[in-house]
Amino acid sequence: MSERKVIPLCIPYLHGNELAYVTKCIEDNWVSSVGAYVDKFEDRFGARLGFPRAVATVNGTAALHIALKVAGVGVGDLVIVSDLTFIAPANAIRHLGAEPVFIDAEPNHWQMDVAQLGFYLETACERRGGGAFDKASGKRIAAIVPVHILGHPVDMDPLMVLAQDFAIPVIEDATESLGAQYLGQQVGTHGDASCFSFNGNKLITTGGGGMIASMNEDFLNTAKHLTTQAKQAGTEYIHDEVGYNYRLVNVLAAMGVAQLEQLDGFVEKKRAIAKTYRAAFATIPGITAQAEADWASSADWLFSARIDQDAFGMDSRALILGLKACGIESRPLWQPMHLSPAHAGALFIGTGVSKALFESVVSLPCSVGLTAGEQNTVIGAIKDLAGG
Ligand SMILES: *Cc1c(COP(=O)(O)O)cnc(C)c1O
Repeated sequence: MSERKVIPLCIPYLHGNELAYVTKCIEDNWVSSVGAYVDKFEDRFGARLGFPRAVATVNGTAALHIALKVAGVGVGDLVIVSDLTFIAPANAIRHLGAEPVFIDAEPNHWQMDVAQLGFYLETACERRGGGAFDKASGKRIAAIVPVHILGHPVDMDPLMVLAQDFAIPVIEDATESLGAQYLGQQVGTHGDASCFSFNGNKLITTGGGGMIASMNEDFLNTAKHLTTQAKQAGTEYIHDEVGYNYRLVNVLAAMGVAQLEQLDGFVEKKRAIAKTYRAAFATIPGITAQAEADWASSADWLFSARIDQDAFGMDSRALILGLKACGIESRPLWQPMHLSPAHAGALFIGTGVSKALFESVVSLPCSVGLTAGEQNTVIGAIKDLAGG
């Protein structure tokens, strides 16, 4: 009996120069934390965003940790972050001894609700000595971390106006939205710095890896210093502060260079997959794709749709189980951060949109290598399951 083939949610596509570049690292004996591919990956990734370079890290969480530290986040500070997100940015805030303030999602594109952010800053915060402070706790607001979830941008223009008005640095979590655009400008180029991830399910992957991007050279130099144990240049082992070993190794950077070469094609494929799902779902009641804003070009990293239990005939979790029985992988969104036991007690600003999305949204198979036949199978299974 042959094993039934499962259609996976989102797996890597490694059919470019990955093997050739990794092989070169091994042939040249340059496999570790310095090497030509690390420099190449940093230069080319930076150039992709219009910056002179970027700083590679061991993963996206480390990138966030370091970027927040360079932005000045420290013990006792508050950092504003999206409530509906994978947990990494909230954890990075805690790693620095700071506390997150969670901002609800908006119902249309599911991103940080900038109106709620404005409400919090205008009503609960005050400007003092060139910074912003939460009036109730007296704590400093050290940064804002908009998380561009699922490939779609946050509404950055009004967010940047608020950030500038309150003199708060912005560190973008662009880990899920490489290749997306906001009003024609690439996501990850609006804030003081932005962070990316090359985890296995991200748009481009190095197995594990991350990147800090910024147009500010000093920011990047400090970030590089901190990721290399804060070791001073030269042959002596002199470290001017407590640093981290957060570097990406040459073998993985080699994969990154090869993946980056294919980025435009990957985005095109993701957008085509989303377009096909959207067209199909227009005729199935109770399933609604994440909407693309008219100011956005989504990278459609992880295609997701909202299930209306009454209209569809079952809830999101029943759909996930139904698809699983058909050999199709799907999954729910993340538990909103204000409900996470890991971050209990943190401030939450919102009305419960993130919770409603958490309960109703399902992410569907959307690998770059997904075939038309496989996508038809997924759509057919959803049609069969609809109506209970
Ligand atoms: C993937 C991801 C990260 C970084 O994850 P790593 O696994 O550490 O590379 C950070 N934030 C969000 C929103 C993510 O989805």
